[in-house]
Amino acid sequence: GMWRRKISEEHDKVFVTGCLEPDTSQPRANAAFVVLARNKELDGVIQSVKSIERHFNRWYHYPYVFLNDADFNSTFKETIMNYTSGSVEFGKIDHKYWDFPPWIDPKVAKEGIAKQGDAAIMYGGMESYHAMCRFYSGYFYKHELLAKYEWYWRLEPEIKYFCDITYDPFLKMIETNKTYGFTIAVKELKETVPNIFRYASAYKRVNNITSQGLWEMFVEPQPEKPKEEPAEDTKQSPLPEDVLRGDPSRTSIPEIDPENMEGEKYNMCHFWSNFEIARLSWFRSKEYEDFFDMMDRSGGFWMERWGDAPIHSLAAGALLSPKDIHYFRDFGYRHTTIQHCPANAPSRQITPRPPFLETTTLDEKKRKEEDEYWDTWDTVKENGVGCRC
Ligand code: GDP
Ligand code: MN
Repeated sequence: GMWRRKISEEHDKVFVTGCLEPDTSQPRANAAFVVLARNKELDGVIQSVKSIERHFNRWYHYPYVFLNDADFNSTFKETIMNYTSGSVEFGKIDHKYWDFPPWIDPKVAKEGIAKQGDAAIMYGGMESYHAMCRFYSGYFYKHELLAKYEWYWRLEPEIKYFCDITYDPFLKMIETNKTYGFTIAVKELKETVPNIFRYASAYKRVNNITSQGLWEMFVEPQPEKPKEEPAEDTKQSPLPEDVLRGDPSRTSIPEIDPENMEGEKYNMCHFWSNFEIARLSWFRSKEYEDFFDMMDRSGGFWMERWGDAPIHSLAAGALLSPKDIHYFRDFGYRHTTIQHCPANAPSRQITPRPPFLETTTLDEKKRKEEDEYWDTWDTVKENGVGCRC
């Protein structure tokens, strides 16, 4: 679709093409794998570590940081050490980054969570899942074990890499001045994020942020609804007080005055965050911090089941531009039932890239052809050896 074309413009070429011998001649970046996990997920974590080691880290030896809201047991720690080729650290997450914040009444939140469980919202009834999403949205980068790092690569239990990654993606991202890298983008389950876009949109409005071209990726095109020109110096209505400071007594997430919204609708698109390579300084920036804080104070991490994926994505939409994003279309990657596979391409040679076409000037047929072309491009194997999905 359109967002894919946006990110696939000239400035976002695949970093490396052709089969390569792993290039390890340059010094490593200041980076680590980050793995949040529970002791009981040991087998799944080993699967993921084996996969990333086999396809990448056996050459590069990047360190790992394992995080948990409980203590890792010795079986977990000792077993992990048998499979990792980089140094390993194990950390516990501070309660204040995991538990209900002081401005939420736990009783109210628990009721809200139970309701989501009754409504069969995926993971909606699991308090720990809400806490996990909030941690990955606003806190992982503040963990003391990550303080020394500038970059991270997120790794989850039970994922699989299919292709050898024979270059250092951190160095490439540094070289090309990227901030955020993804390999799969999908649509979010609507019922988990009913109000997320109102708040993200209000954040933009309240902070006078104009899109640098990425925000549109997340906006459902609204046929012929002319946007009203805002009068020159009308004062924007403030957000409800309790959004900005949090209010334990509320039982649902507060309404936002339409004045504070852009009048747009979320198309549910987001970068799937179980794979991510990103620059930590972006998350640590005042802008991201403000974004997270406002989203958090609304209560949406508890009264709805906002995932860290749409949070990261909408923050990127508000704060970054397409040229800051890298689509790792050459990485073969699977998480549960969704995968991105560069190997099963109809043509395995590298096809020349077409001139970039403005989406707005395409008629339906052209648009379809273009989409098909890009979907093919999307699956062309461009890098690595031993790539079988
Ligand atoms: P899914 O990928 O959305 O189906 O969710 P996962 O169960 O894979 O959870 C996402 C990530 O958070 C994985 O790395 C999990 O290991 C981790 N995770 C989820 N819940 C918890 C939890 O309660 N405690 C800890 N320590 N990690 C968790
Ligand atoms: Mn997972």
